[in-house]
Amino acid sequence: MDYDYGIVGGGPAGYTVGMMLAKQGKSVILFEKDKLGGTCLNKGCIPTKSFLHYSEIYSELCKASSYGINAENINLDFSKITEKKNQTVDRLRKTLELAVKNSGVNVVYEEACVRDKNTVAAAGTEYKVQKIIIATGAKPRELKGLEFDGEFILSSDDILNLQTLPKSILIVGSGAIGIEWARILSNFNVEVSVVELAEHLIPIADIEVSKRVERIFKQRKIPFFLNDYIEKIENKSVTLKSGKILTPEKILVAAGRVPVCPKCDCDSILGDACGEVQLAHYAIHQAKAEALGIPFDKKLVPSVIYGEPEIAWVGMREQDMDDTYTKAILPITALGKAWCDDCTDGFMKIILKKDKICGAHIVSKEASSLIHIFLTAIQNNISIQDIKKLCFAHPTYAEGIFDLIIGL
Ligand SMILES: Cc1cc2nc3c(=O)[nH]c(=O)nc-3n(C[C@H](O)[C@H](O)[C@H](O)COP(=O)(O)OP(=O)(O)OC[C@H]3O[C@@H](n4cnc5c(N)ncnc54)[C@H](O)[C@@H]3O)c2cc1C
Repeated sequence: MDYDYGIVGGGPAGYTVGMMLAKQGKSVILFEKDKLGGTCLNKGCIPTKSFLHYSEIYSELCKASSYGINAENINLDFSKITEKKNQTVDRLRKTLELAVKNSGVNVVYEEACVRDKNTVAAAGTEYKVQKIIIATGAKPRELKGLEFDGEFILSSDDILNLQTLPKSILIVGSGAIGIEWARILSNFNVEVSVVELAEHLIPIADIEVSKRVERIFKQRKIPFFLNDYIEKIENKSVTLKSGKILTPEKILVAAGRVPVCPKCDCDSILGDACGEVQLAHYAIHQAKAEALGIPFDKKLVPSVIYGEPEIAWVGMREQDMDDTYTKAILPITALGKAWCDDCTDGFMKIILKKDKICGAHIVSKEASSLIHIFLTAIQNNISIQDIKKLCFAHPTYAEGIFDLIIGL
């Protein structure tokens, strides 16, 4: 055999498992047909959060006069923002490439296919391997009648290549990708509207989170249409099933992602390709479980939707509980830090079984970090009485956890 492991796909799942196996002394060859880092680094998590950051600065500047900070002639050079986003992605990719090289993984930049359970072929060469791991990711889901054309109907890949911002956009789907792009583009003053097939925005979230986000979208004047879908498009005029007619300059279809997984003989399938939860940290944790045998409780995977305020949750949702639970909610207005930051919209909510937390749902600035405190408590079965013993710093968002549980 040429190698102990052949890995197809160099996204978070592929490079994580590859580096960990190589560090254990295994010989590893990894095939990547595009760029190391996969969707997450090149087309997903990182570029969107980079755009989000600059959109938030712009939006803050536009309203700063209400704080007495007067800036004149604020204008937007979108090409510069794209350049900054590209620099961030390139820098992170170079660091990753170096880390992968230093770990001893051999990378072949070619499309690979699995010939049999011990053979991977790429660019006319066959590589003999002991074990094969597939980590080929996923691609944007196309909807019938809404096929991507890169011009009017965009995928989450296409939207990263825009040279200029559209005046208006209709976003199809209100999962994490749809909501984040709605926030980014609305911060840049693009007229955004969202159409969602389900009864509420972010259908995978706790119902109170969905309702709060709907309230926030109303306040921000981002129209959304629920229980609705695009029925027809004629000359760029979009008719929804409800009869509403819209004329957006662009449509972004953010209706989920389809696993890309070749039918082949392999030892393991990791990440988006395996068709479970499509999140980078899920892929990374699966890879850790594979290489290091670290246990993975798949029920305790945090979800985060970025933007202002952040949205995060872990564990059980209220709508999935039977009748033997209690809950506690703290409005973010209770927190001094939130007032200092002028970010008072949101809440922290926990769902409890006796004195143990089994679900946590946050709409707040810093929710992406706060959720890990709840994750630690749930995963380690820490009781409310024990959390009460923690001394939280003031003023912080985290001290809200103490306020949330003090009466329990
Ligand atoms: C817009 C957007 C925003 C996102 N934001 C977040 C976020 O904030 N947080 C989060 O956790 N997740 C986020 N995600 C999801 C995250 O990007 C994915 O869950 C993650 O990238 C999955 O990792 P993976 O390694 O399984 O697959 P991928 O990252 O997709 O990597 C698969 C790799 O395999 C390569 N490949 C495929 N077939 C072959 C072949 N035959 N030969 C060689 N190479 C091949 C591909 O080129 C690709 O590089 C986002 C996704 C999108 C689209």
